[in-house]
Amino acid sequence: MDTIFALSSGAPPAGIAVVRVSGARAGPVLRRLAGSVPPPRRARRASLHDAEGTLLDVGLVLWFPGPGSVTGEDLAEFHLHGGRAVVAAVERALAGEPGLRRAEPGEFTRRAFVNGRIDLAEAEGLADLLAAETEIQRQAAIGLAGGSLSRRVDGWRDRLLGLAAQLEAVLDFDDEDDVGGLSARFRHEIAALDEELEAALAAPAAELLREGYRVALAGPPNAGKSTLFNVLVDSEAAITSPQAGTTRDVLTRPVAMGGIPFTFVDMAGLRDESGDAVEAIGIERAAAEVTRADLVLWLGGEGEGPPAAWEIEAQCDREGHRAIKRAPRHRVSALTGENIDELKHALVAEASAAMPRPGETALGRRQRDLLGQARDALGEAREEADPLLTAEALRQARLAFDRLVGRASTEDVLDTLFGRFCIGK
Ligand code: GDP
Repeated sequence: MDTIFALSSGAPPAGIAVVRVSGARAGPVLRRLAGSVPPPRRARRASLHDAEGTLLDVGLVLWFPGPGSVTGEDLAEFHLHGGRAVVAAVERALAGEPGLRRAEPGEFTRRAFVNGRIDLAEAEGLADLLAAETEIQRQAAIGLAGGSLSRRVDGWRDRLLGLAAQLEAVLDFDDEDDVGGLSARFRHEIAALDEELEAALAAPAAELLREGYRVALAGPPNAGKSTLFNVLVDSEAAITSPQAGTTRDVLTRPVAMGGIPFTFVDMAGLRDESGDAVEAIGIERAAAEVTRADLVLWLGGEGEGPPAAWEIEAQCDREGHRAIKRAPRHRVSALTGENIDELKHALVAEASAAMPRPGETALGRRQRDLLGQARDALGEAREEADPLLTAEALRQARLAFDRLVGRASTEDVLDTLFGRFCIGK
């Protein structure tokens, strides 16, 4: 396998730049540039020279011999002055070394996975941690990266193995065609496991964390959607959640509010000439946005909005304004700011309730699908009377657990995951 290198710290210029080298040639390369290899895991000051003997920088070097390093391979770190030309010079020197090449995005982490230093769920947590922009995202990711889900899955897997062993015993010791039923203990344990999985599947979706709680503003033209949208998002910190599906007529803005990621959606571009509220919302794209949203703020006529939407009486400062409501959830004015803070607080409370609690794991789509498969298989095992078929169902459940932590994962799953990382990670 090639030895890889990359700048692992942020883009220069910066105070310090960290360049990492991982692979069999890391040791010889460290010796070549720094003159010698320091003791493991101890920083040492060193003058770095290229092959021609030109001084490149004076910095710190560290040596992490494999397999006890983060990648599981020999690993060297160069802590340089974080100037563009310094980094470029060291990278040039490294690229000139035989057997070295620049790392692909996520390649260090991929090697950590391949060498068994982390499992797939932990790698997913790490990707989330690097992408985290709000406090709640950070909290959820750090648990996952630290192996919280992996440990639970391993626990479930061990119990499955125990159940399978009980089945084996039944199959081995019973020569009759009609194997006398499985023990009550077996039934009890399988039911308990099934219930735990059901509870685990109720965890919040990681997509909600990643993309933010989605709030769509809906209502007929001139209801005040855009004005309210601007007031809601402008004072908040913009974040950079992925923006799949953004179009010219639907404006989305990700912001962090109260430590919670939100995506606000303004559908003001979806004009409906008839001005009819119900028809306006009937426009295909608006309907799609309304379905996709976690919450709709309805600025149109009372009771004419989508189900579960919050009735908002907008423009309440205006004399005889259009959308007077008998029982609005919020009466606001985007112009005077009346009740806007209350609306924001209510939104933060609503979104927080949908987000994972501290310490709770959020499930990504892949993780949820596989847990669901494990649960389906367990359900079959619970129903099944034939021990052979029960054993097969348990094997399917175990396979799903193995996929979840990456004991049995396909290349495309790995490509998708590690492609989420930046170069140098
Ligand atoms: P949209 O078509 O639903 O996006 O509505 P707009 O946000 O464009 O607002 C329509 C009109 O109402 C504009 O002329 C706004 O200036 C005005 N407007 C919006 N919100 C308020 C408000 O809270 N108070 C007052 N007085 N006027 C508002």
